[in-house]
Amino acid sequence: MDMGALVDRAADEPTIILHGAALLKDLVSVDDWLPPEYALPDPQRYCQYLLHCDSRERFSIVSFVWAPGQATPIHNHRTWGLIGMLRGSEACEKWIRSPDGALVPDGPAFRLEPGNVDSVSPRTGDIHRVRNALADRPSVSIHVYGANIGRVMRSTYALDGTRQAFVSGYSNAAIPNVWRAEEP
Ligand code: FE
Repeated sequence: MDMGALVDRAADEPTIILHGAALLKDLVSVDDWLPPEYALPDPQRYCQYLLHCDSRERFSIVSFVWAPGQATPIHNHRTWGLIGMLRGSEACEKWIRSPDGALVPDGPAFRLEPGNVDSVSPRTGDIHRVRNALADRPSVSIHVYGANIGRVMRSTYALDGTRQAFVSGYSNAAIPNVWRAEEP
């Protein structure tokens, strides 16, 4: 996946999202490359395994693994993000903030199937909630973000718009991680 070359030559986010989505679509259209340890579900919580972080933190690549019934809270990203479905299926809901701050749905809920790619960004819509759409097996998606996403200070939201700060970290935090010391 040539994300490094793409961010080298593309200064603007729309170009990165457009061409990055095509690269990610190629990656998730074939499900024969993800090592099993990065697709392991945890019955307690959904997992986010860091697969790669650009040494200049211009992007990171993460595998998300949902056991049946698992979902994210409503949350933002504060950078562009691409979500490519590798295995199983995810149900996605997007939200925008109304003038009084409360969250309102931004379009109907939709599903991602293997090979599908979705995007998020503060520019186009950054607040969503994702859950495993399958009741009987794990689902796995590959995410690419415009930062070292595990250390970005972000927000989770209640439907009334109340925010709570969070930093996601990574499920495989035991890997050598030169950024970890900077996490709050
Ligand atoms: Fe997200």
